[in-house]
Amino acid sequence: MELIWLLAFCFSSVFCFQIGENDGGTAPRVPMNDGNSIPTLGLGTFLGFDESGQKEVKEKEVENQVTWALDAGYRLIDTASAYHTESQIGVAIKKSSIPRENIFLVTKLASHEQRNVVESLRQSLSRLNMTYVDLYLIHTPVTFKEDFSSFDDIDYLDTWKGMEEAQRLGLTKSIGISNFNIDQIKRLLENCNVKPAVLQVEVNLNLAQDKLLDFCKSNGIVVMAYTPLGSLFDSSGKPPPPRHDDTALVTIAEKYGKTTPQIVLRYLTQRGVIPIPKSVNKKRIEENINIFDFQLSAEDMEILAKFNADYRTVFPSFWQEHPYYPFEKKDVPDPDPFKGKPIG
Ligand code: NDP
Repeated sequence: MELIWLLAFCFSSVFCFQIGENDGGTAPRVPMNDGNSIPTLGLGTFLGFDESGQKEVKEKEVENQVTWALDAGYRLIDTASAYHTESQIGVAIKKSSIPRENIFLVTKLASHEQRNVVESLRQSLSRLNMTYVDLYLIHTPVTFKEDFSSFDDIDYLDTWKGMEEAQRLGLTKSIGISNFNIDQIKRLLENCNVKPAVLQVEVNLNLAQDKLLDFCKSNGIVVMAYTPLGSLFDSSGKPPPPRHDDTALVTIAEKYGKTTPQIVLRYLTQRGVIPIPKSVNKKRIEENINIFDFQLSAEDMEILAKFNADYRTVFPSFWQEHPYYPFEKKDVPDPDPFKGKPIG
């Protein structure tokens, strides 16, 4: 009899462990300042631009992307009202067998929606066919009129009150910001009831963001890294190195039996930021999350850090005239591809 109990106990422990592990996905979670936790890698779903502007979202394209990602062990999905991907993401999540509470869903308040935060989140939830999201972010402190005809002049402190209200109503578990600089975050921290749990900004090999990361760490704000692959696959020749076939990068990748994108994503997680690589390709989606079975050495981390060139890939220069423009200002020699368009 005792043996039967022992066998039953062993079987249930192994079974529970496996269920738990599968449900939790591949990327371990880290705590946030509001008591919730967030997976350490996620899927980006902004499809980018082509010659005619923001790319059309093809039928099932994002649904397939998210389904493959969930199957591959992703539990964090990043979207935004501006991406037009929310409805397909909702379908993929509903069709999956993964309990909703094990998925960390992020969406964002667009730059032209900031006069109506709660209503805008309700509209996102309606497109997602969900009752709540896990994290709602102010996409940018720069605001536009509803028809994008010109800038709006909304103070992000007022927008933040709406974010706090959305959280109080249970429409989002956590609230945060995106594309804010240190001074703007300081001002927000001095004037809020609820601290932002997360800042989402560009971080990659070309843009290390050391000061911003240190500031967020000392204020208990988790950083999510957008455009994590930086210049790896750029063919325009404009951004600084490295490309994916860079000799130093390839040498490190071969040492660990990994690809160069995997090395970059692992580097970011070891810096304590949460990368959200976007891919619509099943193989690459699987590749990008397969980074939790090795550790880069301190020497290799140093080699990778040397690629920093303070170069910003996502540079919406059209925003430069807005009073809350968050980035460094510079002359723009080329026509701006982001002109009049929402940022990814
Ligand atoms: P990424 O660094 O994720 O790069 C995406 C590009 O890399 C795509 O062209 C993709 O092509 C390709 N790619 C991805 N994985 C691989 C791989 N393993 N090997 C080869 N190529 C690969 O850039 P994003 O700008 O898309 O940023 C990621 C996400 O961050 C966005 O999707 C969005 O969710 C978020 N974001 C947020 C912003 C904000 O303002 N808050 C701004 C910009 C992005 P393919 O799909 O064909 O694989």
